[in-house]
Amino acid sequence: MRKITIAIDGFSSTGKSTLAKQLAKELNYSYVDTGAMYRAVALYAMKNDLSHKQLISSLDQININFKFLEETQANTTFLNGKNVEQEIRGMEVSNRVSEIATISEVRAELVRQQKEMGKNKAVVMDGRDIGTVVFPDAELKIFMTADPEIRAKRRHDELLAKGDAPSFEEVYNNLQKRDNEDRNRLDSPLLQAKDALVLDNSEITHEQQFAQALDWAKEKITE
Ligand code: C5P
Repeated sequence: MRKITIAIDGFSSTGKSTLAKQLAKELNYSYVDTGAMYRAVALYAMKNDLSHKQLISSLDQININFKFLEETQANTTFLNGKNVEQEIRGMEVSNRVSEIATISEVRAELVRQQKEMGKNKAVVMDGRDIGTVVFPDAELKIFMTADPEIRAKRRHDELLAKGDAPSFEEVYNNLQKRDNEDRNRLDSPLLQAKDALVLDNSEITHEQQFAQALDWAKEKITE
């Protein structure tokens, strides 16, 4: 059976990573969470108190990789050898990451790494510019969207479950802010690729969404 590239893009908190992980597991593909890479760069800039200019000249000192940890059974982000999975998901990083993601030099370097990670296909990659910039020739492109209130509620519940305690308004405003920044930046804005299939999951279950995406993937694999 042929191996394909699956690009999943869309607005913040539309469940891209949940779907991407499910597809990768089912198809035995690798999974790359590109949002985690931008988050790790933002964390590095924040920790070292770097200006954009300083960050650009430090890019070669930032090493990001992913490992599947047996103890948590989860794909985990490492920044220069340290597990930062928890830290990059908090509100502090969420509030800074989209600004860091506007920096063209940061994007160029992360896109270079992402192309390398997916060069052998059999990969599911999620982000904002995967179907438009990283893998414009991906065989399957999915663009995910959902009602903003529903997305904020899901994200808020997720953060509460992890022990974080932001208010619903804070989460809602952060999603609005990131969507706006992601859509309006000059370099690689969040755009639906012309050949992307749209998945609006406002009113469908995880199971229905997975079944739909898996059908699409199987169609492309057997094409
Ligand atoms: O996917 P996630 O919400 O974790 O991404 C965090 C932020 O990283 C996004 O809001 C966006 O600003 C940025 N990002 C990006 N391009 C990607 C993935 C994420 O600009 N491919």
